[in-house]
Amino acid sequence: MIDYIINNLRVVNLPTKTDFRGISHREVALIEGSNGWGEFSPFVEYDEFECIPWLVSGIEAATQKKPPVYRKLIPINATLPALNSRDEIAKVLSWYPGAQVIKIKVGSDLTADLARIAIAHEISPNAKLRLDVNGNWNVEEALEFIYAFFDEWDEELLEYIEQPCRSLDELRELKAALMVPVLIAGDEVIRKAEDPFDLDLEDAVDILMLKVAPLGGIERSLAIAKHHGLPAVVSSALDSAVGVGYGIRLAAVLPQLDYACGLATGQLLAADVANLPIENGFVKVGDVTPSEVSMIEHEASTERTQWWKERVAKTWRAGASEIITEMGWHW
Ligand SMILES: [Mg+2]
Repeated sequence: MIDYIINNLRVVNLPTKTDFRGISHREVALIEGSNGWGEFSPFVEYDEFECIPWLVSGIEAATQKKPPVYRKLIPINATLPALNSRDEIAKVLSWYPGAQVIKIKVGSDLTADLARIAIAHEISPNAKLRLDVNGNWNVEEALEFIYAFFDEWDEELLEYIEQPCRSLDELRELKAALMVPVLIAGDEVIRKAEDPFDLDLEDAVDILMLKVAPLGGIERSLAIAKHHGLPAVVSSALDSAVGVGYGIRLAAVLPQLDYACGLATGQLLAADVANLPIENGFVKVGDVTPSEVSMIEHEASTERTQWWKERVAKTWRAGASEIITEMGWHW
């Protein structure tokens, strides 16, 4: 069966609209299976071990029956990369019609970060803000930033801060030191953990960031959320519509969803394999089938397709095979 997946893998190279994560194109491999389409798109620098959950998730999407949904519309947040010009910020925000929440990348330069926040807030004064630091602050820097934020704006404007510091110990120390209530979302600390179940998040993390591919699919993401018993936000990386659609599916099958989700990242791509339109700040839940025309138009070179096929084979041998056997999936 893995041979079928490898032989039929479709690799596309999608242009991004803006320089996000320092890339102008995004390569993703698409898997067609008995139950639809799945995506395998770990960033190219990841080794085969880090790729394992991504492949398990892609195979689950393409071959397994989907759990029943609790909702058919998912609220989304706007995603603002670390841009600084007012025009660029206004342009990016216009891609998310009706979004009530803006997620802003911060963490490199305090002054530039505060200026970016001020511009976004001025353009969308009613939107709540969440800040994503990708673990770039130490505890002191986090405190300095948070107090600078509250000097300028009200507490209610800030929904939460995602991964302000890298380690759980630092997050715990930060929470203990804070004189104002600030919710902390854990992202890297969960998805890069050797075992996301074996983490003590108490007094460190208030909200779980769930990314379906790096967490190994819907079944496993649901189990992680249940295990920790915290509210969750579902987010995509820079995935194609197939991968984002699977994240939307995860958001639909979570028993409880209290927050808007980072599932409109397709807006950062200049071309995609399918449309996931945003209406009044929501996206629809549904099966995503990539368009043949678009897959041909953006088809990766033969060499790159071969590289992805070998990557799937390596990831399979590195441990994806064992996990799927353990899950007891028939496909
Ligand atoms: Mg994040």
